[in-house]
Amino acid sequence: MRILDGELTSVLERLENEALLRRVRIIRSAHGAEVEFDGRRMLMLSSNNYLDLAAHPAVKRAAIEAVERYGVGAAASRLVAGSIEPVHRLEQSLAHFKRVEAVLIFGSGYLANMGAISALVGPGDVVFSDEINHASLIDGCRVSRATVKVYRHRDAHHLKVLLEESADAGRRLIVTDSVFSMDGDLAPLAEIVELAGEFRAAVMVDEAHGIGVIGPGGRGLVAELGLENEIDVQVGTLSKALGAQGAYVGGSRVLINFLINRARCFIYTTGLAPALAAAAEAALHVMIDEPERIARLHANAAYMRAALTAAGFRLSPTESSILPVMIGSAQDALAMAEQLFDRGVYVVAIRPPPVPPNSARLRVTPTAGHSRADLDRAIAAFVESGREVGVI
Ligand code: PMP
Repeated sequence: MRILDGELTSVLERLENEALLRRVRIIRSAHGAEVEFDGRRMLMLSSNNYLDLAAHPAVKRAAIEAVERYGVGAAASRLVAGSIEPVHRLEQSLAHFKRVEAVLIFGSGYLANMGAISALVGPGDVVFSDEINHASLIDGCRVSRATVKVYRHRDAHHLKVLLEESADAGRRLIVTDSVFSMDGDLAPLAEIVELAGEFRAAVMVDEAHGIGVIGPGGRGLVAELGLENEIDVQVGTLSKALGAQGAYVGGSRVLINFLINRARCFIYTTGLAPALAAAAEAALHVMIDEPERIARLHANAAYMRAALTAAGFRLSPTESSILPVMIGSAQDALAMAEQLFDRGVYVVAIRPPPVPPNSARLRVTPTAGHSRADLDRAIAAFVESGREVGVI
């Protein structure tokens, strides 16, 4: 065996022994309340398809029409080969929806976060980051080569201490998820904005799990709190509630012009495919026209939360539709996921490193597409599996 393969195999074996090995499962259908795994229909309770738009007829039609008219690939970076129209139209629609001066589309949320942070801060600057921020924010901080100060989760007091310690920093940037992806809780944005004012810091908020879920018309936590004029950089993905792919950064026209010139994850990568931009735009309009989807999402999450809690599961407090069912050991979480799978329910076991040791969990995400009968079926499977594994 080659040297590298031998070394990698021992790492994989260790991960397997610790119940931390991951594998990719193949789905042979579109995403929806149910998906097909190897000929079996399964309830899907682990996606970010919150509003059930990934396979919505109008969204699919928009993508197909965009392929017919503009082809498939964007052919090069937008600065090199020009920017295909649907991407430009989507930027205008999102700027209007988010009530910001301008928006820039990136290829993914990961790229948007990496690109924005690494463009905005560098050596001599300090970036303040919540300890459970998404990996793409963490990686953006690392790549930027700014000094990174990590504050305790949602702890504005700790953030203040770190800001006080950084009086001689060049630029200060506070970065946070709005809805934390693995816990479903919310950032203390009002307090963060107040501290930012006091310490002349800029604020960047990642609304990946806020858009389409929180706030008036799904405009996110920033809108919910009326902080649209206080946040310097607003990021959101097109890949979750909007059911497509890609992401945006929104803010002032100056910010966007700066990112066009400095964000390496925008400059040095191929533009978003026109079909994805057209699909995201169609999804945005469905979301605006059918606000009952957001209401259904929250009703489904509340129903499931109440039932699982009543059955004896421990759910961490969340203020979004993400339901973290806390299990503890990676082994038990994996056993639960396997039991659920056998009962026709797909829920992924979230194990370290995305979450701290001994806080493995099942991240349950009902969507607007689930019926009460779907949820009841899932709840029954949870109860049977939980008893089998011994976690309730
Ligand atoms: N930010 C957060 C908070 C996320 O949860 C994710 C996706 N898991 C991303 C950014 C990355 O978004 P994308 O999937 O569009 O790359």
